Amino acid sequence: MLKRLKNIFFGKSGTVAEQEPLVIPPSKHGLSPESISKGARNVVEVLEGAGFQAFLVGGCVRDLLLGHHPKDFDVATNATPEQVKLLFRRSRIIGRRFRIVHVHMGREMVEVTTFRAHHDSESGSHTDGVKTAQGLLLRDNVFGDIGEDASRRDFTVNALYYHPTDNTIYDYASGFEHIQERKLRILGVPETRFREDPVRLLRAVRFAAKLNFELEQQTEEYIRPHGHLLAEVPPARLFDEFLKLFLSGHALKTFQLLQHYQLLGYLFPETDSQLKYDEGFYRRFIEQALINTDHRIITNMRVTPAFLLAALLWPAVKELSRKLEREGTAPIHALNQAAAMVSARQVERIALPRRYSQPMKEIWDLQLRLGRRSGNRALQLLEHPRFRAGYDFVLLREQAGEDLAGLGQWWTRFQEANPELQSQMMTSVQDSRKRPKRRRRSGRSRKSSGSGSAQTDIAPSSATDND
Ligand code: ATP
Ligand code: MG
Repeated sequence: MLKRLKNIFFGKSGTVAEQEPLVIPPSKHGLSPESISKGARNVVEVLEGAGFQAFLVGGCVRDLLLGHHPKDFDVATNATPEQVKLLFRRSRIIGRRFRIVHVHMGREMVEVTTFRAHHDSESGSHTDGVKTAQGLLLRDNVFGDIGEDASRRDFTVNALYYHPTDNTIYDYASGFEHIQERKLRILGVPETRFREDPVRLLRAVRFAAKLNFELEQQTEEYIRPHGHLLAEVPPARLFDEFLKLFLSGHALKTFQLLQHYQLLGYLFPETDSQLKYDEGFYRRFIEQALINTDHRIITNMRVTPAFLLAALLWPAVKELSRKLEREGTAPIHALNQAAAMVSARQVERIALPRRYSQPMKEIWDLQLRLGRRSGNRALQLLEHPRFRAGYDFVLLREQAGEDLAGLGQWWTRFQEANPELQSQMMTSVQDSRKRPKRRRRSGRSRKSSGSGSAQTDIAPSSATDND
């Protein structure tokens, strides 16, 4: 087995030697053509009808073998993107770095990729497959055959090809065996494969979390010391990866693994360093946010990346805001300045589209505003487009152990109350309006300032309205 793998992936030229795959019969794999979606089956049939090869590949085959429900079905073929496009009326070629075709079948969208080949060209000698001197792959559009395509995939368990017509699986890299062993192994030489696409570091963590797989030793050993390669990945691509990492229903486990493999600092540097100081409140806060996110996804509730980003960056925003307040800035200005500074530094790593960064900042802003409920303000706040997220954020802070003097409960009651009770509630907030006693800051060290449950100085310090 080892010899066979060596032949495939360590050939002298660095390219893939032709190799017969292991053909896995239905009696062994247990799948049937009905396991795959109608749209994907149609796509395979049309391609084969036109004389091309076509297979289901990647995550869908892996997930079916694990008894999971695949979230989408990808097809790999020897037809070029242009040839695919000619065969399907409702199709579109997308991507530059990696050109693929989106084929629409009814309400389904099937992604069709052309078999890729290795290319040794150092920058420029081949315009369709360009590597930098450091081995980073800038474009990956050199086409090849199925065996070559297998060796271009990231992990062995992602390199299985299912052929629905004869109901067999073609296994070029022992992926079937690794699925049984629940083992995640990078294909080829880890050094080369991670260098040519450092996002694979994150994909390793994502699959380990999602599939509950063990990372194979060589793959694992490579990851921890090489997180710095992620600095070469464009921030926009990291944003896409961030969504996959945190919105797939395994955010907590993924986050823990990112920390374990020392990758978090390359995605959220300020969060990472804050957590190094703080083993208490902020860790509970972020973990709770991730638990809630996972729960919402599993129960098919809507999640917004803005809320998650607001939570992940809150420790940095809050600590900076406290520092600015200590230097004499008024709370509202301190919070706004901190929000702007933390966001500006964060986008150097992960691009934050405005449609998410704007609501993220509004959620932070509401943390102060929700404490100001007197007069008619509480009613006005209910109309705020981000009220629900801001309120959920208050609940999250309390859930993580922060003492906001019952602010979350007040708002829960207020939303359920009839107009008469609402106006009473607003009045009693006003009635109890006293200047809250200023808490003397006791020159706490930075280490302790973020922990503990008394995270009350950004949010209102009590149920009294202290504006
Ligand atoms: P998911 O369930 O998250 O969609 P997936 O394995 O289908 O998992 P995709 O990102 O949809 O992941 O990619 C589909 C397939 O394309 C993968 O299974 C893998 O074979 C290949 N692939 C994707 N990204 C890379 C990469 N960066 N390097 C090499 N191969 C990749
Ligand atoms: Mg997929």
